[in-house]
Amino acid sequence: TPRPLIAGNWKMNGLAAALDEARAVAAALEQRPASARVAIFPPSTLLHRLAEAVEGSTVLVGGQDCHPKASGAHTGDISAEMIGDAGGAMVIVGHSERRTDHGETCQQVAAKVEAALAGDLEPVICVGESLEQRQAGEAVSFVVGQLRNSLPDSLQGKAFNVAYEPIWAIGTGHVASVDNIIEMHAAIRAELATRFGEQGRTIPILYGGSVKPENAAEILAAPEVGGALVGGASLKAKDFLAIIQAA
Ligand code: 13P
Repeated sequence: TPRPLIAGNWKMNGLAAALDEARAVAAALEQRPASARVAIFPPSTLLHRLAEAVEGSTVLVGGQDCHPKASGAHTGDISAEMIGDAGGAMVIVGHSERRTDHGETCQQVAAKVEAALAGDLEPVICVGESLEQRQAGEAVSFVVGQLRNSLPDSLQGKAFNVAYEPIWAIGTGHVASVDNIIEMHAAIRAELATRFGEQGRTIPILYGGSVKPENAAEILAAPEVGGALVGGASLKAKDFLAIIQAA
């Protein structure tokens, strides 16, 4: 099985001073290497500076989104190639905030995954249900369908990660129960194995949604949890390191 991945998604947070938090994470991992892989996804404005700040350390850097095309007339967007050029090795695609704020469909997410692969980035592909869907008993069928439609066939043989982030658990402090996590991760694993065969059995499935130092160990120990996608708690080196060390 691959090493777990602890990924910090800074979302639209972080000015230059935040680079010190990334430096502190890198320095602490130097002193005490983690068993997990560690990645930070800063806003695009900090991508290059953060990549320089952690250069030579084990901290990986990634973008929070990429456009499906490699270049062109798409004001405000960035391409996978640009993320790589800035020092990124990974990219998040299909985050629920992109799907909601920008109306991204599964088909568009799949096109972005293709672009990520073409740009030599390792994607972290996000799926997750709303509170209404969970209350209607549709969480598992919705997430499995979203996964099916968001993953292009070209992922076969490529390094990638899936992140399960129930929307109602994001930024709310209401972490999903371990039972909810186990059930959903098992369903995601079954879909990945059906779709990608042997490879599908080892693709890391990250949990995201109010992961904190206090709940990280229990979540990360659950079956089929291959890491965490951390929002708020990734902004402070101390909290992020506590989650990293729980893996
Ligand atoms: P929080 O950890 O702030 O709930 O955010 C989770 C998330 O959306 C990470 O991508």
